[in-house]
This record gives sequence, structure tokens and C-alpha cells, in this order.
Amino acid sequence: MSRTLVAATGNRGKLAELDRLLDGVGWEVVAQSDFGVEPPPEDGLTFVENAIIKARHAAERTGRPALADDSGIVVDALGGAPGVHSARYAGPGGGDAANNEKLLRALAGVPEAERTARFECAVVWLRDPRDPVPLIARGTWSGRVLEAPQGTNGFGYDPLFLDPATGCTAAELSPGRKDALSHRGQALRALRAMLAATDV
Ligand code: IMP
Repeated sequence: MSRTLVAATGNRGKLAELDRLLDGVGWEVVAQSDFGVEPPPEDGLTFVENAIIKARHAAERTGRPALADDSGIVVDALGGAPGVHSARYAGPGGGDAANNEKLLRALAGVPEAERTARFECAVVWLRDPRDPVPLIARGTWSGRVLEAPQGTNGFGYDPLFLDPATGCTAAELSPGRKDALSHRGQALRALRAMLAATDV
């Protein structure tokens, strides 16, 4: 019988990935928005801090175990920006298209070799809001920011992010191939291994 886990995100792209990557672990993943929970302010300086803030908020509001992912793109030529501010890079309510346009403007004139970037992901599993030993896992996916979008899969910065190993953008990869390579895939596979070794 599966138990209910609250996913501390309203991002449909992320939810689909979390759902796929947690398939078979024995937990039904339900979005916090389905419990009427609004996201908290994310004022941490790191992906891990923000993931803890989000998971704790969801666990507090729903009384259930919670899983949060905090992720973003870290661009070397921009001193690590947008980083933890990736979701709102172009301002509140800007959305993926506005964020991608802003990133392209910020990198205008930067040569290919200097357009290196990484997707970062931290995932946090809290058994309850006061869980003193959360499960924490991370993943990193290195690549490069293109000068124009390519591909229609995925979400966020996927159309601009070139994976050097495949020569495809994240938006040109099938969901399964993205999961095999991505920061979120890495983090959730590590989390699955922790779950298998831990009593939750
Ligand atoms: P968060 O909800 O604060 O973690 O926001 C993460 C933001 O980083 C998303 O809204 C996207 O803009 C970006 N991001 C994170 N993961 C991915 C990904 O797998 N592909 C594309 N963009 C991503």
C-alpha cells in the first residue's frame, strides 16, 4: 500500500520528473498545491537551505512527510547567477520565456568557450517538520548555455542548456534520457538509495 508524500513544489515540470524518478518507492507523490498549500518565501543562500525551508513548510501545513527540490542554473560567466534565484530571474511572474530571454541578454557577446554552466539540485526529505536528520541528496549537471533555444521538451532553461556528452539540449532529450543525466535524476537516485537503507 502506498503512503502519501507531499511534494513541496507547484512547478508541473518538476512534479512530472519527481513522479517518474520516485516510481516504485512505495510513496504516492501529491503536490502541495493539492492540499491548498502556498509556497513559502525562499530566502536561503544555498539550494540545500531552500529545499529544507520548502520541505519544512509543506510538512508543517499538511502533517505529512515532505519532499522538496531546490534547483537552478549556475552560469560561470555571470559569477554563478542566476543560481538560487533561477525561478524568478526575470522578476516575479516572469516565467520561463522571460527568464531565458534575460539569460541570453546577460550572455550576449560571451564566446562559446566561456558559456559554461551547471544545473544544480538539492533534494530534502523530512519525516515531519521537526525532523532533526533529514535525508539530503544533491546532483550536478555540467554543460553550456547556447545562443538560441533548441527543443521543446522539459521546462525552464532546458532549451538553452547544451549537454556536451549527447550534443543535445535538455529540451531535445526524451524524459528518460534527461532523467539519466540530469541534476534532479542524480539527486533522486541518491535519495532512493538512502531511502532503501533508512527506516522512513
Ligand atoms: P525552484 O522552484 O526555486 O527550485 O526553481 C528552480 C528553477 O530553476 C526553475 O524554475 C527553472 O527555472 C530552473 N531549473 C531547475 N531545474 C531545471 C531543469 O531541470 N531544467 C530547466 N530549468 C531548471
